[in-house]
Parts: sequence; structure tokens; C-alpha cells
Amino acid sequence: MGKGYYISKHLATAAMVLAAIALVTIFALSVVYNREKSKNTAKFSNATTSPVFPTPKTSNEPWDKYRLPDTLSPQYYNVTLWPHLSVTAPAIKTSWFQTETQYLVIQLEGKPKPGKDYWLYTEFTGELADDLEGFYRSEYMEDGEKKKAFLCFDEPGMKAVFHITLIHDLETTALSNSQEIKNVIIDGTAITRTIFRPTKRMSTYLIAFVVSDFTHINAKDKKGVRIWARKRAIEDGQGDYALNITQPILEFFEKYYNTSYPLSKSDQIALPDFNSGAMENWGLVTYRETALLYDPRTSANGNKQRIVTVVSHELAHMWFGNLVTVKWWNDLWLNEGFASYVEYLGADYAEPTWNTVRTSLRGFFTNVPGGLERSKTPGVKLPYSVHEIMNCWILQMGFPVVTIDTRTGNVSQKHFLLEPEAVVDRKSEFNNEWCVPIKWMKKGQVQDQLWLLQKSAIHKPMKVSKNEWVLANLHVSGYFRVNYDLVNWERLLSQLESNHQVIPVVNRAQILDDTFNLARWENITLALRTTKYLLHEQEYIPWEAALRNLNYFFQLFDHSEVYDAMQAYLKKQVKPLFEYFGTISSNWTTVPSVISFVDNCISCPISNLEISNLYHQFFKMLYCTIRVVIHPNLRSTVYCDAIAAGGAEEWNFGWQMFQKATVAAEAVKLRSALACTKVPWLLNRYLEYTMNPEKIRKQDATSTIGYIASNIIGQPLAWDFVRANWDYFFQLYGTGSFTFSRLISDVTNRFCTPFELSQLKRFQKDNAETRFGSGSLCCEIRVIQILLQNVLLKDTTAL
Ligand SMILES: [Zn+2]
Repeated sequence: MGKGYYISKHLATAAMVLAAIALVTIFALSVVYNREKSKNTAKFSNATTSPVFPTPKTSNEPWDKYRLPDTLSPQYYNVTLWPHLSVTAPAIKTSWFQTETQYLVIQLEGKPKPGKDYWLYTEFTGELADDLEGFYRSEYMEDGEKKKAFLCFDEPGMKAVFHITLIHDLETTALSNSQEIKNVIIDGTAITRTIFRPTKRMSTYLIAFVVSDFTHINAKDKKGVRIWARKRAIEDGQGDYALNITQPILEFFEKYYNTSYPLSKSDQIALPDFNSGAMENWGLVTYRETALLYDPRTSANGNKQRIVTVVSHELAHMWFGNLVTVKWWNDLWLNEGFASYVEYLGADYAEPTWNTVRTSLRGFFTNVPGGLERSKTPGVKLPYSVHEIMNCWILQMGFPVVTIDTRTGNVSQKHFLLEPEAVVDRKSEFNNEWCVPIKWMKKGQVQDQLWLLQKSAIHKPMKVSKNEWVLANLHVSGYFRVNYDLVNWERLLSQLESNHQVIPVVNRAQILDDTFNLARWENITLALRTTKYLLHEQEYIPWEAALRNLNYFFQLFDHSEVYDAMQAYLKKQVKPLFEYFGTISSNWTTVPSVISFVDNCISCPISNLEISNLYHQFFKMLYCTIRVVIHPNLRSTVYCDAIAAGGAEEWNFGWQMFQKATVAAEAVKLRSALACTKVPWLLNRYLEYTMNPEKIRKQDATSTIGYIASNIIGQPLAWDFVRANWDYFFQLYGTGSFTFSRLISDVTNRFCTPFELSQLKRFQKDNAETRFGSGSLCCEIRVIQILLQNVLLKDTTAL
């Protein structure tokens, strides 16, 4: 059993030391200039009485604005020292905490002089709660809710050096962003003081502290890579995989960025309680256990794939995001977008045999600025400068759908919207037109690239004669969707059915994905017909696209009479594929080289495959002996099927296995499988468990409700449960939790009737916008989606 104290960035963080000791924080401030000070002269006649706080919306005071004034810039932070206030500094007149904007406002008697350095000493005592926010405690069997505050200039662009010291129990280890240099036992008291090297100049949101009884393994290399986790997990070798890949990925990014890794060490730590999947704190990356720990005996291929992509993503941030940082949060998309792109490159370097990763990305290479620069090779002409081309993509919202009419050769573009009737309020300076590079082929022959630079244009070569077809966005190298006239669609469909390999694999996935996304407002029949050729498809990417899109339909129709027909159809389509993998995996005893394919294949919503008998056999054996090893790739399905087929006895057995699970990935499989039961009272009891952190960890509560809601019997129960306990969930997760916004969409996923829609709208009305937090946008979106589904349902004859 592990215990630990973590601090993670997200909102803010600066300096904090722990335990029962009061804290002292010192900031060094430099007064850059005093432009704003005249506006801020004290308005308080008496320093001893509380000031009257202005209303945030109308006030012009700096502490009511979310952006920090630029009159001060932080230089460095020190922690755990005694106050030492300069006599020449103006005295503090009054101070208060402005809750709305989270400012500590300190008003001075006089004015600080421009260009001078001042030191500000503050003391504060924070409580370590288990609320997964800021500096929090993660322990078994604990409870208590209190928010804490941290004092710092919390804007990404306001970088400073941090001198950090942590005081902690003897048997624990302290970690922070920089290397620990001194670890002294304080005389007379049984506590340790760990001092860290001054950090590089860095943003406050990337600061992290961890005090734990964890242990680690390390690589013998210059990068100082260490993998930290619970003792048991490390002893079981669950950190080995992460250790093997971390250093190669760091080396890859050094070459890719042509810049050395900026720090002297790189700690990766797996936390049993963590709100997001991982966080890129500079030098001390924090992960959920499932994103870092891998046990080859119990974890599936998909778990391994997730680890390598998450580790690669976070390490990419060590440069892009941490070394080079956005000035303000409105450019965060750039940070995340870029890391999400290069994570595949790092993962591909670490696991070169997983060619699925490489295949899925190949197309993107030509679509980034670097790709455009490279394309300046002789023979390729750009219509505008790279700067101008990129501006039309990054300075306006969304992306286009390009429609090609092969009868006339007309090519046109418009803003792609899932709901075409939606009104776009925001004006675009580019008039919702993009500079679209269109790579394309005609009946299997690659053609010259075309640039679509206006709303529509005639491109003669795209006018085809009989039997010819056009396929645009070859290898999906552009960021847009494609639609065609029906005749061309028909020809593409017949090409897929007669010889699908003429069409590149990524484009087969694209055809499925585009038709399904266009189908939401155009042609459902066409979309469903694209799945017919899957009988012959053995590649991962098209199947992934098909299953992801079909899942939406399954959820929509699994309570209607067409469900049976859909299942029968998909069972027929997937059968050859299943047999193929059965053969190449020697009847499921070895792992096929195409990573995670099997995971995806069998976790699709088909419960009537012949092999489900095999699953039950497996589970029976497992039940009797507990020693029979089920292949990790099959476990999710086996567990779910067995619990769905069984009653309370099977459920309780599954629950015991969940509680005993020492590998996080295994625990997730069981937690998800427990939601498969068809017994309502078991589902209701399971829902209740999500409010008890001793049973379901707080980080897992909302996703557990999501699992229950994805079960057709559990869905109405989950909806009632969430509404009845909304205050509890909102208080706990409403602000700052990434998973919370999914809660509403999870519990209303099957909603499609006008009655259900009115229920959702009622719920939305009953809880004023302020009480939705990060769920409010999601609620709006669900209302729109349900309206759309109403339209779709009327069209079920398409099946
Ligand atoms: Zn990221």
C-alpha cells in the first residue's frame, strides 16, 4: 500500500512546503515600470478594516482582471526561509484574497521604484486534502475536502527560477523539477529537509512536488532517467517498459528539435490518484498508473501502445511547451496540437515495428509548415508564402469540406459543420475559405496536385469519363473532408468491393470516416454501404475508422428493433477478419504483430460471435482455479461477457478481483467489466460505490459512471443517479477535471426521443450555467446532437 503527497501544477503552483509546518515563501520581484500604479492608488481609508471589494465585471482594478498586470515580473522563488524585509521598501498597508480571480492583493503605503528589486515574504499554511487539485494527498482510506491556495504569478509567460526545499518524514522521498542536491536530517526532529538545485527559468504551471514512499529504477545514462512508482509495482517490473522507452524517446527528440535535453534529470512517476492522464511538469512528469506501468503478463497490447504514446507526448513537451512556452493560455492549442502530432514520431522511434503508427501519420508530414518548406523542392510551386498559407488555417475556426463534382470538374469548399444548420457567430477574416492543397488520383493513377484558393473552381482533369473515378486528399495529406457527386461515390464503392487495394489504406479509412461524418446530414445509406467491403479488409486503420463510427450507430439503435439486423450484419462482416487473426495468432495463443488490432477488433460491440462460447469456457476455468491465464488481449471481453451472463455471485467475484488487482491496467478492465452486469440492483449498488472513495478512487468515479451508462440497462439508472447527486459531483469535479465534461455526454449517450431531449433541457435549466462548470458546453452539444439523432432515427429505413 502506498501513500504519498503530490503537487501537480495545473492551475497554479509556486512554492509550498509541507507537513504540519508553517510555510515561508519568498518571491523576488522586479518592478519593471509603474505604468499602472497611478490607477491603483489606495482607496481604503483605514488599513485595519476590510476593504470594500469591487464587482469583478465592472471594475477596472487589476485584481479583478484575469490577466496579471505587466508592471511586475517574477525573477525567482525561494522557499522555507525567514522573512527579511528591506527597510526601504514601502510597508504593507493591507492585503486580502480576491476569490473570483484568485488574487492575493497586497496594497503598499508607498510606491515601489521602477528598476529596483524588492523581496516579498509570505507565510502560509495549506491543508493537504485528497481533492486531486494543487498540492494533494493520495492515500488509502482517507477523506476530507479543502481547497488550498498558492502564491505565485500564475501566467505561463511569467517565468522565474524556483529554489525549492521540501521538509518531509524520514521514510519518504521528495522529488521536484530539478535535481535534489542536499538531503539533511534536521537535528532534534525526525524529519528530513531536501534541497533542490535552482530550476531553470520556468512557468509556474510546470512546477511539481512529490513526497512519497515510492521507489524507482533508473537507466545508466546521462539523461538521468528514473521511473518511480509504488514499491510493489516497481518490484514486479511494471516500470521496466517505461524505462526502456524513455531514454530513446528523449534522444529522438534531441535530434528532432536539434536541441539537447535542457535538464539534468528526467523523472517519470506513476500516481495512484491523478486527475488527468499525465502532466508534463518539467523534469518530473506525472502519470496515471495506466499511462506508465506495464505488466506483460496482464496488460494488453493496447495498454503498451498507450504508454508509449503518452510518454512520448509528455517528453515532447519538455521542449515544446516547457522550454518554449506560450505567453498566454489562448495559444495552448498550439502546444497541445504540436505535442499530439510529434508523439507519434517519438513512439514510432521507440517501437519501429508497429507500422500502424507510421502509416497513420505518413499523410500528415506534408501538412505542417516544415512539410511545406520541404516541398519547396524543384517542381513544386506554392501559390503563396508559407506564412500566408498557414494563416488561413490557423487564424480561422474549423476546416473545410471539399466537394468534387466529377461530371463537371467543379471543385468547391465550405466550412465543415457536423450540424449544417448551426449558425457560426464568429466572423472569419478569410471568409471561411482555406488554401487547400489537393493531392488526388484518378482510377488509381496519381495526378498533379491542385490548389483550391477560392470558394469554387473548375478543374478540367477532374471531369471523368465512364468508369473513371476520382479520389482526393491522397494519403490524407490535407486537413479537410471530401465529398463527391453520387456517381463518383458509386464508382469508389464498387472499386472497394472489386479490389480495395487500389485505394491506399489511409484513404480507405478516410472514405469510411468522411461518409459517416457527412452522413449525419446527408446520406446514411451511403455511409453504411461503405462498410460492405470490410469483408475483405484486414488492415487496422479502416477497421478502426469503421468501428469508431459504427459505435455511434450502435449506441443510437441498441434499443430499437433494427439492432438485431445490425448485429447480424456486422457479425458477418467481421467473421473473416476474426478467422484470419485466429490463424495468424495460432488460435489466439500468440500476439499478432499488428499491435492493438485484436484489442479493437474484439472489443467492438458484437457479443454473438462464435467465440463467445470460448470466452465462457475461459471464465469458468478462471472461476474454478483462478490460475488459468487468459491472454491479456482477450480479458476485457471475457470479463465483460462473464459478468453480463452471470448474477450477484459472478459480480462479487469480479469485484474481489478488482480490489485485489495490483496492476492498474488490469484493474481498469475489471472496473469496466463490472458495469456489464444486466442486474439492475447490482448496477445501482455499483453507482453508489462511485461516491465512496474507499471503493472507487476519486479519479475513477466519473469514468465508472460512464461505463455503467454505456450498458443499455445501466443508462437510465446512471442518468437518474447523476441527476440525484449532481451537487456532489459538481462540487467534487465541476472545475478543473478533464473527465467531468464527459459525464453528461456519457449518461445521455442514447438519448434520441423528444421526451429524453426535454428531460435533458429541463436538467440544463434546473442547473444554472454556473453550476455546470466544465460540463456546460457538453450539455449544449448534447442537446444539439439529440436533435440531430431525431432526424437520423426517422431515416432508419436506410438500414
Ligand atoms: Zn500535452
